Amino acid sequence: MSMLKGKTALVTGSTSGIGLGIAIALARQGANIVLNGFGDVEAPRAQVLDAGKAAGIEVGYHGADMSKTADIEAMMKYAAAEFGRVDILVNNAGIQHVAKVQDFPVEKWDAILAINLSSAFHTTRLALPAMQQANWGRIINVASVHGLVGSAEKSAYVAAKHGIVGLTKVTALENATTGVTCNAICPGWVLTPLVQKQVDAKAAAQGISNEDATKQLLGEKEPSMQFTTPEELGELAVFFCSAAANNVRGVAWNMDGGWAAQ
Ligand code: NAD
Repeated sequence: MSMLKGKTALVTGSTSGIGLGIAIALARQGANIVLNGFGDVEAPRAQVLDAGKAAGIEVGYHGADMSKTADIEAMMKYAAAEFGRVDILVNNAGIQHVAKVQDFPVEKWDAILAINLSSAFHTTRLALPAMQQANWGRIINVASVHGLVGSAEKSAYVAAKHGIVGLTKVTALENATTGVTCNAICPGWVLTPLVQKQVDAKAAAQGISNEDATKQLLGEKEPSMQFTTPEELGELAVFFCSAAANNVRGVAWNMDGGWAAQ
């Protein structure tokens, strides 16, 4: 359980949901973790520290707003100063907004593109030089099944997620002869606060129970009728960090209960 001992992983948007699940899984493998995100930090920090207790990991935090380039630059400087360098970069922070294209609020479009796509460009460009010098690095982009297929009313999200799959491929290609890999994870539905909001909206709009709204949400898209969990996604991130994945480059790997297979 110390495959990643001595390495440092920075996970954006890791105070909640999938990012926290990935941070816990990497901590369990012995990686030091830099957390990022809004809201309560102490509970996630305690969970991550506990997961890495056996390996004696260190956990840092930076509250950079992923929509702000200067904040991202400050976070990357902080990580380098505290931990030497970022060996594993997980670009996970993301937001959602649902509206038809003609009604889509312009400021929501800008925010989704900035947080879900441009932030990954900035962290990647800032993390790469040290990874290249060390000839080892892992960049894992949390895209979505919406990086592969579309859904109505999610124009900004689908555009950003297709964009991050493209960034993943180019980053992988530019480093293909080195020990630096870049891959994307494409989850289907995962029951996090981001999705709970969509379940609640569906229940309210149709006057149905939360349970029925959940069944409907899964039934529309996900053949397995099951949510993927942050723990499962964390184990996929661990695989991408392993030696077995040394030659896995530029893939967009879905964990989507069959969503994109239809
Ligand atoms: P979540 O809302 O539980 O967590 C999002 C995290 O990002 C939180 O830590 C939040 O504080 C942070 N965050 C939001 N805006 C930020 C900003 N401007 N700067 C810094 N941090 C910010 O959501 P989640 O479901 O865990 O989503 C994580 C990622 O997984 C997102 O990129 C999302 O698009 C993707 N994803 C989620 C699902 C799903 O079904 N939940 C499916 C596919 C992909």
